[in-house]
Amino acid sequence: MDVFDVIVIGGGLLGCFTARNLARYQLKTALFEAREDLCTGISRANTAVVYSGADTKPGTMKSHMCVQASQNFASLCAELGVRYKPCGSLMVCFGQRGEEILRRKLAQGLANGVRGIRLLGREEVLAMEPHLDGTVRLGLYAPDAGTVIPWEFGLAAAENAVHNGVEIFLNTKVTGIARRTDGYEVHAAGKVFWTRGIVNCAGLQADKILEKVQKPSVRIFPDACDYLILDTKVGGYIRHVVFFEPEDKANRLTLVPTVDGNILIEGGKYSLTGDAFFQTIPASLKQMQTMIASFVPSLPMEHVIRSFGAVRPNPYYVQRDFQSGLYVPIEKEIHSFNILETAENPAFLSLLGIKTPGLTCADELGRYAAERMAAVLQSEVNREFCSHAAAHLRLHDLPLAERVRYIRSHPAYGQIVCRCRNISAGEIIDSLHWHPGAVTLDGVKRRTGAGTGRCQGSFCTLRIMEMLAREQAIPVHLVNKDGPDSYIVQNEKCSYDHEPGKS
Ligand SMILES: Cc1cc2nc3c(=O)[nH]c(=O)nc-3n(C[C@H](O)[C@H](O)[C@H](O)COP(=O)(O)OP(=O)(O)OC[C@H]3O[C@@H](n4cnc5c(N)ncnc54)[C@H](O)[C@@H]3O)c2cc1C
Repeated sequence: MDVFDVIVIGGGLLGCFTARNLARYQLKTALFEAREDLCTGISRANTAVVYSGADTKPGTMKSHMCVQASQNFASLCAELGVRYKPCGSLMVCFGQRGEEILRRKLAQGLANGVRGIRLLGREEVLAMEPHLDGTVRLGLYAPDAGTVIPWEFGLAAAENAVHNGVEIFLNTKVTGIARRTDGYEVHAAGKVFWTRGIVNCAGLQADKILEKVQKPSVRIFPDACDYLILDTKVGGYIRHVVFFEPEDKANRLTLVPTVDGNILIEGGKYSLTGDAFFQTIPASLKQMQTMIASFVPSLPMEHVIRSFGAVRPNPYYVQRDFQSGLYVPIEKEIHSFNILETAENPAFLSLLGIKTPGLTCADELGRYAAERMAAVLQSEVNREFCSHAAAHLRLHDLPLAERVRYIRSHPAYGQIVCRCRNISAGEIIDSLHWHPGAVTLDGVKRRTGAGTGRCQGSFCTLRIMEMLAREQAIPVHLVNKDGPDSYIVQNEKCSYDHEPGKS
């Protein structure tokens, strides 16, 4: 039986950062992820904003972590070799209700210690964001906000964890947990593992994982929102993360100038029915377009290249309804981070229903979880921990002369596969050997950016499939897009000669 000090359940942002921080201690750590890759859940579909800390209640752990995280974010990204765009954020309003909210958030931000936060009048707002509608009333500027690529951030943390001795088990869904006197038996992927401690980072499933050892006091009631991505052609239209505080509070809208130069638009909020997770809703997309037309009228929406849906893991305290037998919410949403630890299950920590700003605070939350585990399990600091990760080569970020020199000695980097993002065959092949490496098209996309550009993979998909097939020694038609049985090609007659550049 495999034996660990700590098993982290779930390989999203929180699991990856918890694993990384556990490596700071002398703890034999494993990360179990149900899917074939990391960062495929909430962590891949979110707004990608690094929040300044003006939105959260003063005095809460959430505010404290968020302010600290945003102020240290650039150095954390440099440490992990991850790109970060410290563009600042601007919350804008167009009426009385919005103005009151902005003034309240200013006071909140000041109380939380947000650096440089200030209110701006119409002229100043329009000077910073000239494409906003001229009726804008007020802006709340926070220079410490920014944007990052969530999966690039999470995967870097995971690689750093692996580099420091953490073992990652993919395709390893936890199906059972049994409490024993001095630890836990974990059933996953048909095997039994033994561990002294567990950190539950199972995202939308975190309540179900906790339920395996105790009755739930908190459950997740998900809701959803939608996203649009605009092409890099119009990337310059917005320079800051712009949060709109409309008069009708049901109509949310956020614009983000992404690290790759696109604009990401978040909007809509609706409850989920059935299991139609991560899908978009036409009415919500339409409402986003209507809002854009009134707040940023000149934004050329014909340049939308993609839409996607996202799911929020809202945590609520619950009690059992005796008639129906169902757990029903008894209180309003929980506002601080919900980290559950109980005396009946020692060394079992659950990060349950962690929504915004969970991306911003992923390292802080991971550090907190690791410190708790180290304290409970009485572990010493690992003096050999190395916090620095070497960035993966991104050829088009190099100066031209250096690029040319590199390609001369490494010809695969001279074959451009993704023309929209200028990603070479060499970088794609590299991504198959990261720790862990990509095994699906979307895995390659998350690691290299190939397929995220204007053509959304129209030109590069088949060539990347070919490389994946060769690496996995499988026929091309068995290459998956995103998870098991997500085949692009439905017919084995599709064949390629498996030589990069000859598709
Ligand atoms: C719509 C939306 C927008 C957001 N925008 C922002 C933002 O702009 N800025 C910000 O700071 N934060 C933001 N957040 C919050 C942030 O994205 C989340 O806090 C973070 O991604 C949560 O990651 P996670 O690791 O908890 O969950 P996930 O990424 O979902 O990871 C959980 C993992 O657990 C795995 N798993 C589940 N069950 C099992 C099992 N039985 N065995 C093994 N593995 C299992 C899943 O496969 C999954 O990979 C946003 C959140 C949402 C929902």
